[in-house]
Amino acid sequence: MLRFQWSNARTVADAAAQLRTVPDAMLKAGGIDLLDRMKEGLERPSRIVNLLTVPDLAAIREEKEGLRIGPLVTLAQLDQSAVVRAKWTALADAAGHAATPQIRNVATIGGNLAQRPRCWYFRNEEFHCKKKGGTTCFAHDGENQLHAIFGNATCAAVHPSTPATALVALGARVTLTGSTSERTISVEELFASPERDVMRENILAPDEIITAIHLPPLAAGTRSAYLKQGAKESFDWPIVDVAAVLVLRDGRCTSASVVLGAVAPIPRRAEAVEERLVGKALTRATIEAVALSALDGATPLAHNKYKLPIVKAVVARAIAAAAGVAS
Ligand SMILES: Cc1cc2nc3c(=O)[nH]c(=O)nc-3n(C[C@H](O)[C@H](O)[C@H](O)COP(=O)(O)OP(=O)(O)OC[C@H]3O[C@@H](n4cnc5c(N)ncnc54)[C@H](O)[C@@H]3O)c2cc1C
Repeated sequence: MLRFQWSNARTVADAAAQLRTVPDAMLKAGGIDLLDRMKEGLERPSRIVNLLTVPDLAAIREEKEGLRIGPLVTLAQLDQSAVVRAKWTALADAAGHAATPQIRNVATIGGNLAQRPRCWYFRNEEFHCKKKGGTTCFAHDGENQLHAIFGNATCAAVHPSTPATALVALGARVTLTGSTSERTISVEELFASPERDVMRENILAPDEIITAIHLPPLAAGTRSAYLKQGAKESFDWPIVDVAAVLVLRDGRCTSASVVLGAVAPIPRRAEAVEERLVGKALTRATIEAVALSALDGATPLAHNKYKLPIVKAVVARAIAAAAGVAS
């Protein structure tokens, strides 16, 4: 039996201090991912530091500078928040289409951003893959149907967070609070490619806690959309998901942020698409032509080439949805 201590954190400072001083202590929010990893034999924490007992971390607050989201806000709260849905629609839809209603009621946005990949080789303790300090990515020559089609040379696991796709597209920032310091960086900078460190997906220091997510105010004419294509309708991680955030003035696109999820080890900005959208009047034909650029740089594996046309289709539909063009 796996033995561990349980500690109900009183404050963020208390939680961060425990993460710094207790070897192998691990932070728990909703526990959906952490408990799975413990059951899968991937984690053996000496102590679980329960963040749910820290007050004031579960609120969504409008601020002069935009919106502040506490790390313990659940995916269900984000889906149901009137202000998030009205203004930052892509995030409400990303949260509302993740997992199942039961999971969304428990899963927190902080834990969602810091969850580990669902690659079946990584999740199986029998496979000592690169993410566990090994020398092989078993997906490269194995079952890679759900794996990355971009940036997959070192490790082919895709990033598991669907809200991250929307948060990156919306230009969100995160505050990271450690035992001795605090910093605020973009969500895009939070994530680290396998080339930077194959054993991690983010740059959180061992004692750092996500203590806030900040959504910037929206420029006039901003519209956003999030679309997910899964293998089945009921619940699942996406095969491909896309968030599009457009600023439209006088019928033309003056700014575009288009981010792809579930296709790379970290959320992937479709830069060529963004560049080609700016300055254009968005018609169905323009959008279809521009969406093809989302495939630039793709390096699909033996069993996941089928994702290529899905990426193009979902990119086109997400842009059309944000622009209010029938697709
Ligand atoms: C059947 C199923 C389907 C799913 N489908 C989807 C999906 O479509 N899209 C999707 O995005 N997810 C999906 N998930 C994953 C689920 O949403 C995540 O496991 C959940 O959001 C994690 O949040 P949590 O609060 O439970 O985190 P926890 O399990 O408590 O923590 C996860 C990790 O984050 C760390 N952590 C927690 N809080 C913080 C914090 N504030 N700061 C720093 N580190 C922190 C923990 O130490 C741990 O390593 C699915 C899960 C299941 C079981």
